Amino acid sequence: MAIWHTKTDQPDIVPRFMHWLEQRNPGEIEFHQAVYEVGVNVLPFLREHPEYMEAAIFGRLTEPDRIVSFRVVWEDDQGKVQINRGYRVQHCNAIGPYKGGIRFHPSVNQSILKFLAFEQTFKNSLTGLSLGGGKGGADFDPKGKSDREVMRFCQAFMTELHRHIGADTDVPAGDIGVGAREVSYMFGQYKRLANRFTGVLTGKGLSFGGSEIRAEATGYGTVYMMQDMLAARGESIDGRTAVISGSGNVAQFTAEKLLALGAKPLTLSDSSGFIYDPAGLDDDKLAWVRELKNVRRGRIKEYADEFGCEYHAGERPWKVPCDMAFPCSTENELDVDDARTLLKNGCIGVSEGANMPSRQSAIDVFQQARILFAPSKAANAGGVAVSGLEMAQNSMRMSWSRDELNTQLRKIMLDIHNRCEQYGRESDDYINYLKGANVAGFVKVADAMLAYGVM
Ligand code: NDP
Repeated sequence: MAIWHTKTDQPDIVPRFMHWLEQRNPGEIEFHQAVYEVGVNVLPFLREHPEYMEAAIFGRLTEPDRIVSFRVVWEDDQGKVQINRGYRVQHCNAIGPYKGGIRFHPSVNQSILKFLAFEQTFKNSLTGLSLGGGKGGADFDPKGKSDREVMRFCQAFMTELHRHIGADTDVPAGDIGVGAREVSYMFGQYKRLANRFTGVLTGKGLSFGGSEIRAEATGYGTVYMMQDMLAARGESIDGRTAVISGSGNVAQFTAEKLLALGAKPLTLSDSSGFIYDPAGLDDDKLAWVRELKNVRRGRIKEYADEFGCEYHAGERPWKVPCDMAFPCSTENELDVDDARTLLKNGCIGVSEGANMPSRQSAIDVFQQARILFAPSKAANAGGVAVSGLEMAQNSMRMSWSRDELNTQLRKIMLDIHNRCEQYGRESDDYINYLKGANVAGFVKVADAMLAYGVM
């Protein structure tokens, strides 16, 4: 049975939808998880809005507009031919060009990119900007590769991808394993192949069309979201302790903004383990981490050796007592036991810098305990928002100042908070930010799709 014929008043609408989805997309567990996380709020919402159900809007949104999958062949420093698989998932361009990052990590597969592209569509809608949703990447591991190997891989990847993207079509950016170095190599190759200098990628260097605040935006935005959630309860960040996972782009700028607002970040991690610094990070230690991770490309364990603190190999930092938690590394890094441990230790708020870092069972624990919980599609939307502002600057061939962009980012994050509040306030006054983000993100895209008719 086609799901769009399911009556909205049926109590089992979510399991029936999920059954349909899982049969259509066998084995894609991350994609199932992401759709469930949205569907559990949006499907019941359709009861009051049968026009969306009759037009099968949510069902249509679980089928990407298209997926491109391609071979990437390149030569390593020993002259050996290497083969990787590249993808671009163009999920939905109902409200603007496809927009979303590129991930280089050995775990990349179609399910992970479909989940990320699906999430991106709702996140981009929440920013209030005209941005559709997409995501791409490759099962390439930049770790341990020389700069020249990374360059050759990026050029080979873009040699195929350039046919499918464009400043008004699809505008990729960075993500895990894709930072300033990789974006630069890819932008250079696009420019060479297309013979056009356009804003086809965001996260570019400042001297070739990049935007101030883009590097900082995701981490800063994740902290602004926490600031706004606390303010809604008459509280503030100042003086609070924070546990952060990851030590890449998002984690670094989350720590930076927390320090600026008077909080004390206690941990950082990478895929090998985490450091716990009871004295807290400070600006000098953070500068050292930046050099370690962005220049020397070393391991976080070296922080413990340098500053004489604890290192926990093979573990995640959630057992460290804290007021606030910021998962900033990867999906499904925080499970139900971690959630219970955080609660037991007095955590009052979680803001997700990474995409889908908390498992559904962990989210249930946070929400049942009525602590603050900002889901990734709201909390980390600052990155794509400033990417949208980079696109605007590129179109105008002008650039805005750092202060101007930070002011715009701050306002966008507050607007996101308020949209979540509008759709997520429950009868006991608890703000269910996940429900608010899902419904607010859905409505804007759904209205555009309704207007276009059946396609
Ligand atoms: P980076 O590549 O800069 O950093 C990723 C960090 O996460 C590294 O410390 C890495 O450790 C760690 N990590 C990656 N995979 C795993 C894993 N499987 N287990 C444990 N640790 C892991 O990426 P970003 O900081 O850009 O991205 C982090 C998260 O934020 C991702 O979920 C991304 O999708 C999301 N995000 C990023 C945005 C951006 O603007 N960059 C925008 C919105 C969301 P190691 O070095 O050992 O691999």
